[in-house]
Amino acid sequence: MDGIFLALYPTMSTPKKWDIIIIGGGLAGLTAALHLVNNNHSVCLIEKTAYPNHKVCGEYVSNEVLPYLKLLGIDPFEVGAKHISKFKITDTSGHPITASLPLGGFGISRYAFDELLYNALKDKAEIIFDTVTKVNFENDEFIINTQKKAILKADFVIGAFGKRSNIDSYLNREFMNQKTPWLAVKAHYEYDFPDDTVALHNFNGGYCGLSKTETGAVNACYLATLKSFKKYGDIDSFQKEELSKNPFLADFFSNAKPHFKKPLTISQISFEQKEPVVDHIFMVGDSAGLIHPLCGNGMAMAIKSAQIFSELYINSKEEDNFSRAQLENEYKKRWQKEFKSRLKTGRFIQNILMNPVASKAGFSLARTIPGLIPMIIKKTHGA
Ligand SMILES: Cc1cc2nc3c(=O)[nH]c(=O)nc-3n(C[C@H](O)[C@H](O)[C@H](O)COP(=O)(O)OP(=O)(O)OC[C@H]3O[C@@H](n4cnc5c(N)ncnc54)[C@H](O)[C@@H]3O)c2cc1C
Repeated sequence: MDGIFLALYPTMSTPKKWDIIIIGGGLAGLTAALHLVNNNHSVCLIEKTAYPNHKVCGEYVSNEVLPYLKLLGIDPFEVGAKHISKFKITDTSGHPITASLPLGGFGISRYAFDELLYNALKDKAEIIFDTVTKVNFENDEFIINTQKKAILKADFVIGAFGKRSNIDSYLNREFMNQKTPWLAVKAHYEYDFPDDTVALHNFNGGYCGLSKTETGAVNACYLATLKSFKKYGDIDSFQKEELSKNPFLADFFSNAKPHFKKPLTISQISFEQKEPVVDHIFMVGDSAGLIHPLCGNGMAMAIKSAQIFSELYINSKEEDNFSRAQLENEYKKRWQKEFKSRLKTGRFIQNILMNPVASKAGFSLARTIPGLIPMIIKKTHGA
């Protein structure tokens, strides 16, 4: 499609119109696009970065998405995803608790996962590599402007532009005005680590996830407060001096061989509440809300929200008395029902882990009640 794109790329004078334009081709955007084109709706997906690319992410995906991925013709195990069934969590001193994962999951890099979906989509939908700069809803249609000066039109727009985008600023979304204390770091390493385990190691000011990816590399991804990072100023010292107070992370960062020249980093990560529909744009994935990464469920939520929107859209378009307002209300209701309590539980657990006294009490409780961790995991995951 990339070649055809040059010929089709709309100019100022001839704006082309689709049923749906999707802004952002991460997991949410790609799955929604596949679902909709498979049901004969014309889709244009606009993504600013070429595939494949690495993203800051823990790369543990809950199995709850497997039936839906199968329906879309996607099998992550075809590209070597690792089956994960065990969970290990340590406190800041490295005392471990292990538990089995109620549903289980799989380990796959975003490099491979997003590309797998992109390859399935590229001959079915128009994919434009460009950055959307403006989205306006006028006279019951959307007009979209891009950095490369294209003007595109659609009846519906899906916002799948992730946790923080220039489009959030354009839409003047409230969370963009709030300061956030979080940054995240991720890289792949060669390290002796079991295929079937996802580990979450706590340190003062954050936590680090470890799990294997399809290449056999271990993905290490941590979330930390800016305050704890600032004491050290650079990633290397932070890892050696702060994260390594946890003996599991000390062993990891002294023995693991990095695959990347330098780790990927992001900052300004917001966990504030967002609206699932803004200016008639249907938000899916992180654009609608980001769950705390310790729940290991953001990717599943991104995919699930794409499924919810796509199913509602397809069904309501088949009805004689289709109404945009009704679709918007129904999506808002379904989104809240599916995700509101997961996000709330995620916030609650994060607050406990970040508070040394509450965290100590929480770990003792989890040691005495073995079913507690699987129960909490269930509360942050779907069926
Ligand atoms: C530190 C950390 C660790 C995590 N670990 C896990 C984990 O282990 N398991 C899990 O399930 N979840 C995890 N998550 C959450 C998970 O990464 C996200 O929920 C998931 O990536 C959401 O997918 P998405 O499609 O909504 O967004 P993204 O994957 O971020 O995709 C958004 C896309 O939009 C594009 N875009 C943005 N603006 C524009 C524009 N203006 N024009 C065109 N394109 C645009 C971007 O280039 C990007 O490709 C973690 C998150 C963090 C921060």
